[in-house]
Amino acid sequence: MTAETPENHPLVPTQGSETMPPVVAATLCVAVKADGSPCRSRPQPSSAYCWFHDPALAERRSEVGRMAAATSHRRTCLTPGSKAPQLQSAEDVRTLLSEIVHQLRTGVIDRATANGLTYACQIALRTIDARDLQRRIEALETAAKARR
Ligand SMILES: [Zn+2]
Repeated sequence: MTAETPENHPLVPTQGSETMPPVVAATLCVAVKADGSPCRSRPQPSSAYCWFHDPALAERRSEVGRMAAATSHRRTCLTPGSKAPQLQSAEDVRTLLSEIVHQLRTGVIDRATANGLTYACQIALRTIDARDLQRRIEALETAAKARR
């Protein structure tokens, strides 16, 4: 990133310039954005740069980004020690779906998480159906053998 000093910033008029009122220009960050346009944000107190461009705040910006990412992740997950729901029946899946809908509506989880959980519920339901069908077939086979 190339940054300009206040002295050569295009929005900071030189003495006697009539293109822009100095009071407005002096309140803008002196950095140039990636697309080459000047930053239009207000500078930090006692700095020529805004929060996003101040080189002195680079470490703090990284820290805030890491904290936001960690908080975002925490928001979408249960705590690591929490007990996993037992999905043994269609009723168990229905109960979990009710929780997912409630958590989505109250903002505890985001839509992507709700979509993933709903998909997992569909797979669990198919697995339960397949298991139930297998048990019925086995019961019929046992009954058929007993009749012979
Ligand atoms: Zn800036």
